[in-house]
Amino acid sequence: MKTVVVIGGGITGLSAMYELQKWKKTNGSDLRLVLAEASQQLGGKIRTVNQNGFVMEAGADSIVSRKMETMPLIEELGLEKEVVYNATGSSYIYIDGELKPIPDDAVFGIPASIESLAKSTLVSVEGKVAALKDFYTKNETFTKNDSIGSFLEHFLGSELVEKQIAPVLSGVYSGKLSDLTIASTLPYLIDYKEKYGSIIKGLEANKQKFKGGERKFLSFQNGLGSLIDAFEEKLNEAEILLNTNVTKIEQEGSYYKVVLNNQEIIEADYIILCIPHTAAESLITDPDLSQDFAGLKNSSLISVYVGFDVPDSVLPADGTGFIAANTDELSCNACTWTSRKWEHTSKSGNLLVRLFYKSSHPSFATLKEMDQEELLNVALGDINKALGITAKPADSEITKWTEQMPNYLITHPKSVKALERKMAAAYPGVILAGCSYYGVGIPDCIENGIDSARKIVLTF
Ligand code: FAD
Repeated sequence: MKTVVVIGGGITGLSAMYELQKWKKTNGSDLRLVLAEASQQLGGKIRTVNQNGFVMEAGADSIVSRKMETMPLIEELGLEKEVVYNATGSSYIYIDGELKPIPDDAVFGIPASIESLAKSTLVSVEGKVAALKDFYTKNETFTKNDSIGSFLEHFLGSELVEKQIAPVLSGVYSGKLSDLTIASTLPYLIDYKEKYGSIIKGLEANKQKFKGGERKFLSFQNGLGSLIDAFEEKLNEAEILLNTNVTKIEQEGSYYKVVLNNQEIIEADYIILCIPHTAAESLITDPDLSQDFAGLKNSSLISVYVGFDVPDSVLPADGTGFIAANTDELSCNACTWTSRKWEHTSKSGNLLVRLFYKSSHPSFATLKEMDQEELLNVALGDINKALGITAKPADSEITKWTEQMPNYLITHPKSVKALERKMAAAYPGVILAGCSYYGVGIPDCIENGIDSARKIVLTF
């Protein structure tokens, strides 16, 4: 009898285990399946807190619905009737003490028409005139390896970039625009400049591609935790060990000893490591891999939900949230008006907002040392300043994700390839999986979990 141990019960580990169990059932196999999860519950970065009429997500809050491969799985898990979609609306930028709408017809804050530029309330007349340079200047120097910040500033002027584009784009790609290349962000912009003579004209001509529209993201009536519960219910032929921290992996000829925190040892033929790369590195303890693991980076984030006993209608009509443009005005980087964007998150229609505090913010060094009460006070300060709400909170949920958010640097694919190669040579049957390596989005993690399981069953 062969044994597969999946380490880590986040979405990657659960998807891997589900696929392994499917194979076991279909083939009437006696394969032993064990899933070890360090914490007291499954889900990892997916954890729904359902309290006082509010549905709050400690980690991920939605799944991109365009990635259609998740839909068949949702149906298989019997969750299709619980699917809910986001409401759409305008996003704002908080700047100079005010909330100003990001013009419609903008892609990551970049105007996709001359009207969009003209209507912007975020940029001065001088800033708009400077952006017109885009229409009459050719690209003679920039390649895809140049910084997206200098490229945009060169053609659209520094004011438009600083006040309207950078707040959006830096948030999406987690970094300063001067440190990000065109290739790793919006490579098509350089092609548009070439083909249409103008970034703005290029975006206008390709508008259809960027239309977000309705039903872009999905969740479930009782939150994303329903996905985890459904997996747990279906995994009836796997041994699921909660509160089980794997402390060591030892190679013993053709098999591995998986050492648990209670000193128990499981003998495994195959292992899928669905845990953050830092945890994987400490289990394998191989100096030959350390340089490649060091090429993978994480950042931190604090998520703060605050629910109020006031109706959601106190917020600007049609808005779904804001991004903070300047780090000296607010401590948060962004705020989602959750009850507006996701109807299911507030049963009473009362206001629920979520603030994001990222390690890129100068205040973060102080914030990360704060306790929950202090963080709540910082959040209430930001809410008061940006939204003018002074009501007492009815509920809150605060989660610190310290060094838990993978940041894929330009060298990331190279490090992953090297790890794959070295692992296959030195540790046959042990697979690295999950958000540290193959994409952070839930659909990427699901796909990677399934692929990892398939790699194993193919060898049977
Ligand atoms: P994890 O969820 O990190 O699971 C790893 C598991 O391994 C954990 O449960 C951990 O306890 C366990 N573990 C670690 N070490 C050991 C050990 N030694 N022994 C046993 N178990 C161990 N993605 C989206 O698609 N949409 C979103 O809206 C979205 N928003 C996000 C918001 C936040 C705040 C965060 C943090 C992430 C968000 N993501 C989002 C990303 C997405 O949630 C993650 O990439 C994904 O859930 C990671 O799944 P995973 O299984 O690879 O890892």
